[in-house]
Amino acid sequence: MKIKTRQNKITRRQQFRLFLSIMTTFAILFLTLGIIIFNLFQSSTYKSIDKDIKEQVTSIRKQPKMNNQIQTGPQGPDRGDADTGNKQPEPRAPFQASILVFDNSGKLLNKSSLGNRYSVLKNINLNKKNLNKKQTLTVKKMNFRALLIKVSKKNNNPMYAGHYVLIMQNIDTQIQSTANFQRILIITFFIFWVIALILAYVLTRINMFPIIKSWKQQSEFVNDAAHELRTPLTIIQGKLEYMLTKPNKTIIDEAESISVSLDEVNRLNSLTNNLLILARSDQATTKMDFELTKPEFFLKDPIMPFKEIINSQSKVFQINLNHKDDIHFNVDRDKIKQVLIILLDNATKYTPENGTIRIYDHIEGSKYQIIVSDTGIGISDNDKKKIFGRFYRVDKSRNRNSGGHGLGLAIAQQIINTHHGKIFVRDNLPTGSEFVIELPIKH
Ligand code: ADP
Repeated sequence: MKIKTRQNKITRRQQFRLFLSIMTTFAILFLTLGIIIFNLFQSSTYKSIDKDIKEQVTSIRKQPKMNNQIQTGPQGPDRGDADTGNKQPEPRAPFQASILVFDNSGKLLNKSSLGNRYSVLKNINLNKKNLNKKQTLTVKKMNFRALLIKVSKKNNNPMYAGHYVLIMQNIDTQIQSTANFQRILIITFFIFWVIALILAYVLTRINMFPIIKSWKQQSEFVNDAAHELRTPLTIIQGKLEYMLTKPNKTIIDEAESISVSLDEVNRLNSLTNNLLILARSDQATTKMDFELTKPEFFLKDPIMPFKEIINSQSKVFQINLNHKDDIHFNVDRDKIKQVLIILLDNATKYTPENGTIRIYDHIEGSKYQIIVSDTGIGISDNDKKKIFGRFYRVDKSRNRNSGGHGLGLAIAQQIINTHHGKIFVRDNLPTGSEFVIELPIKH
């Protein structure tokens, strides 16, 4: 019980660690993705503003000849306030844009064209260090993308010629939409992160389940094996210690202790052999010798010795094999013989005197069935599901006397599985059980 709780704790800890690492990985992934998307959005927003500014720069630098005409045009949302009495050509700027013209000393030259924006823009000073550099300016809580250029003296527009021109584009809307986008991005990614975590949790559980199951089975197997090994060793140790206390006794005097010890040694031998078989097939290191063969070649050998054994125990052995010559299989003969020996041995062990043990065959579609039936003690429905498990014995005390470790059917099942066949048990009416081996026929 203690071992089981420890194991559960370990698997829970492992699951938690796995979940934690998935959680961090997802968080890093979503964060990176979010940062990339946000930066792309931001840079594409600034790109379009920068493009507008660039167009402004080009239009300023390539001013058409004035012929002393007054240049008019939209000056921004508040253009209507511009001083219309000014005879000088005015800087033109699209909606949301402002153009500030400074002379070399930093004096603002186009106050009149700024209208009511002047109250805000007057706070901007000429900073020659920023010449030709894109910059973001904040004036009285208003944000601008700006570029300062120096216009050549040859420029056709005397307003610009030889002066510093600061082209500014208001980016409050863009900043607002970037902030909105950022908020939506964070919320969306958080929701998807949570969904991904739930999915990861479900998937982890589904994927971990067979691993945990086989890990549990493995450790249970080791525990059971150790337990099975301990019992005969304790008996042998007891007998040997007892014999040591009687140094003057002869072998004949202690024949009983010696024979019990020998029995236990035999049990140990068969147990270690079985354990080895199971361990090897678990690691898939058992070499299988598949060959095309008829049932006759794997039925004869195991049946023959049982004829004598069963008859000597005053039980009846019936053999009704009708198809042993006319079909073929791809099987490892020795392994199938081993399965038949396990089934016949069990049928003999669990059938009382005067009972009948029968082996017969049957073709069911493309499957060949070999059935070992007995009129023995039978197996309850509940035990039918468990007897193929390792170390499972219905009646532990009785089976120990009859020599079983509960590994025979587990080995049989493993062998039949590697043949892509089936093995199952059903009731033999009116009493006893029937073990059915089903193998695919090779056409
Ligand atoms: P064992 O070596 O103990 O016989 P098996 O794996 O061969 O181990 O069988 C598991 C258990 O299934 C047995 O301990 C026994 O309780 C039950 N069993 C197997 N075959 C029969 C049978 N023919 N009749 C009744 N019980 C059986």
